[in-house]
Amino acid sequence: MTTQPKFILVINCGSSSLKFALIDPASKQQPLTGIAQCLNSDEANIVIKHNGEKHQDTLDAPFGHKEALANLINYLTQAQLIDVIAAIGHRVVHAGECYQLPTLIDNKVMAILEELCTLAPLHNPANIIGIEAARVAFEALPQVAVFDTAFHQTMPEKAYTYALPRNLYSEHGVRKYGFHGTSHYYVSRQAADYLNKNIDDTSVITAHLGNGCSITAIENGESRDTSMGFTPLAGVAMGTRCGDIDPGIIFHLLKNLNYSTEAVDKLLNKESGLLGISEISNDCRTLEEQALEQNNPQAKLALDVFCFSIAKAIAAMTTSLSKLDAVIFTGGIGENSSYVREEVIKQLSLLQLSLDDAANEKTIRGQAGNIASDNSPAVLVIPTDEEWVIASQTLALIKG
Ligand code: ADP
Repeated sequence: MTTQPKFILVINCGSSSLKFALIDPASKQQPLTGIAQCLNSDEANIVIKHNGEKHQDTLDAPFGHKEALANLINYLTQAQLIDVIAAIGHRVVHAGECYQLPTLIDNKVMAILEELCTLAPLHNPANIIGIEAARVAFEALPQVAVFDTAFHQTMPEKAYTYALPRNLYSEHGVRKYGFHGTSHYYVSRQAADYLNKNIDDTSVITAHLGNGCSITAIENGESRDTSMGFTPLAGVAMGTRCGDIDPGIIFHLLKNLNYSTEAVDKLLNKESGLLGISEISNDCRTLEEQALEQNNPQAKLALDVFCFSIAKAIAAMTTSLSKLDAVIFTGGIGENSSYVREEVIKQLSLLQLSLDDAANEKTIRGQAGNIASDNSPAVLVIPTDEEWVIASQTLALIKG
C-alpha cells in the first residue's frame, strides 16, 4: 500500500459503540472497517476487517472509547497504516444552528459541541468522547466534524417552526432540525446522476429507512422539509421509536398511568414502533417472515402502520416541491425490502406512482436502480454511503 496520506479515518461514536472505516475518498475503497461494541462493559470487544480478513479482540479495562481507539491504533501501527491517514472525519449528530458545513475541530468547536449536548443528550456526548479520544490519539492529524443536522439548515422558516410560543425557539432553540443529513445528501446527488439531470434542476423525496427512518423533500439539491424534528423521535414509525403521536398521550401516561419521565422516554424511544406494535421484534426481516409466512396479525399490523406512516410522510413532502422527479429508497429497509417499497408505493397512486414488480423484487442487496413502472415518476433504490460522504467532505475541507 502507498504511504501517501490519502486515506480518511471515519469515526462514528455511539454511546456503547465505535464504528470506524479507513476510506480513500477518490476510489471509495475501504481497506479497513470495523466496530467496537459493548463499550463500558466487561464484554467490550473490537472487530477489525482488513483486506477481507477479520480480527477480533477484547478490550482492556475500563473498556471505553479510549481503549477501543488504543486497540485500533495498535492495529494500524502494526499494519503500517498510520502514515496513510490524512485526517479523521467524525460523524456528529447535532450541530443546532451553529454549523451548516463540515468544520475543522478546535477547542472552540469542542466548547460549542458541549453546549449542544442539551439539544442531543442521547447522541452528542458519545460523539464528544470519541472526538476527545481521537484528538489525543491522533494529535498530529486534522479532525473534522460532519453533522447529521447540517444538510437540513436550508429548510424555510415555515417548515422548521413549531406552532409553539415563539420564545421557545428564540431563547431555547426549540425547532425542527432534522437528521440523517449525510444520507439524504448522498442519495439525492446519486439520484441526479441517475436521472441525468443537474442537481440544481431536481425535485425529489428521499426515504431513509433503517432502524431510524426519515423522509425528506429536496428541491434543487437543498432540504426543504424533513420528517424528523427537534429530536430523531419525530416523523414516521421506526424500529423502536414511535414517530409522530398525539402529545396528549404523554400527559395521559404521566398523570393517569403513573409513568415517570424516564419511563416515558424509554417507552417512546426503545419500546415503540415496529417492536411495540408487533411485540415480536424491531427487525423488519423478522416481521416480514412472521406476517407473510406465519400469518401473525400483530406483525402484519406493525408493518401496515409502518408503511402507511411512510406513504403519508411522502405525500406530505410534496407540499414543498414544485414537481416530483423521483422517490428514493435507501437504508437497510429501503435498500432491501421489496415488500415495504410495494406497500408504500401502492398507497401513493394519486401521485401517479407505481412499481415494476420484477424490478422491485430484484433490486436488493446493494443493487441500485429504477423500480418504477413506465408511466410513473422514477422510484429509485440507492444504497446510501454515509461514511464516504464524511470521508470526502473531510478531505475537501482539509485540502481547501
Ligand atoms: P441503522 O439505522 O441501524 O443503520 P440499517 O440501515 O442497517 O439500520 O437498517 C436496519 C433495518 O434494515 C432492520 O430493520 C433490518 O431488518 C432491515 N433489513 C435489512 N435487510 C433486510 C431485508 N433483506 N429485508 C427487509 N428488511 C431488511
